[in-house]
Amino acid sequence: MDLPAGSTSTNFIQNIINEDAKTGRHGQRVHTRFPPEPNGYLHIGHAKSICLNFGIAADNGGLCNLRFDDTNPSKEDVEYVDSIQEDVKWLGFDWGDRMFYASDYFPQLYEFAEQLILMGKAYVCDLSAQEIREYRGTLTEPGRNSPYRDRSVEENLDLFRRMKAGEFPDGSRTLRAKIDMASPNITMRDPVLYRILRATHHRTGDTWCIYPMYDYAHPLSDAIERITHSICTLEFEDHRPLYDWCVETLETYRPQQIEFARLNLTHTVMSKRKLRELVEQKLVSGWDDPRMPTISGLRRRGYTPEAIRDFCERIGVAKSNSLVDYELLEHCIREDLNARAARAMVVLRPLKVVIENFPADRVEELTAENNPENPEMGSRTVPFSRELYIEQDDFMEQPPGKFFRLAPGREVRLKHAYIIKCEKVVKDPQSGGIRELRCTYDPDSKSGGATSGRKVKGTLHWVSAAQAVPAEVRLYDHLFRDETAGDVNGDDSGNVLNPDSLIVLKQAMMEPALTNAASGSRYQFLRQGYFCVDPDSRPDAMVFNRIVSLRDSWAKAQNA
Ligand code: ATP
Ligand code: MG
Repeated sequence: MDLPAGSTSTNFIQNIINEDAKTGRHGQRVHTRFPPEPNGYLHIGHAKSICLNFGIAADNGGLCNLRFDDTNPSKEDVEYVDSIQEDVKWLGFDWGDRMFYASDYFPQLYEFAEQLILMGKAYVCDLSAQEIREYRGTLTEPGRNSPYRDRSVEENLDLFRRMKAGEFPDGSRTLRAKIDMASPNITMRDPVLYRILRATHHRTGDTWCIYPMYDYAHPLSDAIERITHSICTLEFEDHRPLYDWCVETLETYRPQQIEFARLNLTHTVMSKRKLRELVEQKLVSGWDDPRMPTISGLRRRGYTPEAIRDFCERIGVAKSNSLVDYELLEHCIREDLNARAARAMVVLRPLKVVIENFPADRVEELTAENNPENPEMGSRTVPFSRELYIEQDDFMEQPPGKFFRLAPGREVRLKHAYIIKCEKVVKDPQSGGIRELRCTYDPDSKSGGATSGRKVKGTLHWVSAAQAVPAEVRLYDHLFRDETAGDVNGDDSGNVLNPDSLIVLKQAMMEPALTNAASGSRYQFLRQGYFCVDPDSRPDAMVFNRIVSLRDSWAKAQNA
């Protein structure tokens, strides 16, 4: 496959791979996997893992599998399986013909379990979940052996087969590894390998009433696929001895688990459980709500796969957890769209302007470049006429010192057009609110014209009233007020949703060139930010999402 922009450069994982190549540990192969559990939609944290796993494989001439870690039927669903495939593809990665499901390995995993029993390395335990916890001990105290630990191989085999046959109620028995109840690592204190659970699995239906635990299924699924480097997040570090125990005891292929720091972002949460709560409690419109940190939310908001891959590249791969500033993600999309988004003029909160010295029946077609960063994107025409709209906040009756926009008696340039001067403010006699501005224009001041040299301080965007097309514009802000809402160590009880995270403007006026803009197409609205046509948009009722404003506080902070 092509090397995507988000592929990894040098990092500690690449160093391990280089070392392995020298020692021949994996016979020069590099084979990774991305192993989502289909219990929710993917988020930007998963994008980091996807870029890393597919990137490492691509960088080293290797392969990366997509594997659904579907061992927990009560929480999983095909809706999630489908969305995950869509998101990985959209990010620009290709698993070829290597899409697998841990559930496809259930028969093999069961055989492995019987092998462990025959080896005297696993036993059926009748303790309840609560009792298992009590027997487990703590960080400072060793655990106690289960009273069922010394069952004979024959009895264990018989009971395990009867567990599988459905003879016992849910939760009444488990299969446990026989390792060491006194191990300083609690994960190694006879971990549960199988539990009894009557739940319909989205792929295997009711075939099974026992399901393998993650810590058992994961290393063995990796082994079955002959994964060389099993890259996971830091919280699995303590589980590595169990990972190794599984593949060593069963003498399978021995993949190598490598942990890296998960991505945490300011002002948002990054756990599928918490994101699901937002969806279920209808605090957002769905998994793809443009405020969500999900891949589908970012896509709907207008983010590009290129920007997300660039972001994943920039944050790098480390061994210790940190909190990444949301501004960096926004910086990445600005950089990407600055180069390729067409410019347009849209007035979000219109204020009428009448040009008194411009004939009522005249419409002038002015030329406007589509992207000053990229002349190849050409130009378009923008109609100019006697009645225009400008932004309400581009006018002030009593402007403070550094207000360079329009005010009574002052001049501004209208972008791509003329200099206008505010002659009079017309107010609503009832409310006293401003109804329109009466202005004059300077016919000799046309942008790009021979006599256009005269300079004024402010330049405003505008649209011509008669040709303008109304649109709905949705402005977004962070979902959570608190910067550390997504901190791994954070207590999330104080997390407060930002009440201003969505502002809907229904009366925006856009220049006619935007009519029929396709769903998903992206623009820079001059002075307002980057916007994307929402899937809710219809030709007669356009809807735009603001992806990000123009003010790049991340770049500013870097240059300070
Ligand atoms: P969540 O807590 O959001 O449910 P998870 O780890 O349970 O995440 P999985 O579906 O098991 O979700 O994750 C698939 C892969 O993505 C795993 O290898 C996991 O380590 C990785 N991953 C999940 N969250 C992040 C993150 N925030 N940063 C980097 N990688 C992540
Ligand atoms: Mg998980």
